[in-house]
Amino acid sequence: MQVTVVQGDITVQDVDAVVNAANRRMRGGGGVDGAIHAAGGPEVLEDCRRRFPDGLATGAAGWTTAGRMPARWVIHVVGPNWNRGERDRSLLVSCYTGALAVADELGARSVAFPLVSAGVYGWPREDAIRAAIDTLRATPTGVEEARIVAYGRSALDEVASALGD
Ligand code: ADP
Repeated sequence: MQVTVVQGDITVQDVDAVVNAANRRMRGGGGVDGAIHAAGGPEVLEDCRRRFPDGLATGAAGWTTAGRMPARWVIHVVGPNWNRGERDRSLLVSCYTGALAVADELGARSVAFPLVSAGVYGWPREDAIRAAIDTLRATPTGVEEARIVAYGRSALDEVASALGD
């Protein structure tokens, strides 16, 4: 699998699946989650309610339709909330391994990832990037492209430099 990086908005990526940095309630939120629900439309929330009536555990992954986005599916993961004291790195790693396992179930060949937990949840960005890249590189999968979507210029530079290490 190729691990690539682009700068931009995850909701407009032309990939089979986009990964959402969701929360345990799975009823929408801010950051990537808000952008995905806004771009995908009400179908995404309806599918979340239907498929995840009890929400999703931290570190877990599951899928819904992508509604009106170019992607076909949203793979929702719940990253650990560093700011609330959830600092077990294996939970962050399991967001990436879980997302790839779901992608394999779906037959997705290209998947766009945000930097899970690196926003509102406050995971230190350098380590969030390292966890993303190392886990994506180490996990056996049928996915051909894992595209990390960096939201700003500085995040792009940091991911690009970490990819080169
Ligand atoms: P979390 O709650 O898991 O920390 P956030 O959505 O707050 O998730 O942020 C995760 C990362 O995604 C941050 O680096 C943030 O800058 C970035 N981000 C926010 N909106 C978008 C977007 N529309 N597309 C891609 N990345 C985004």
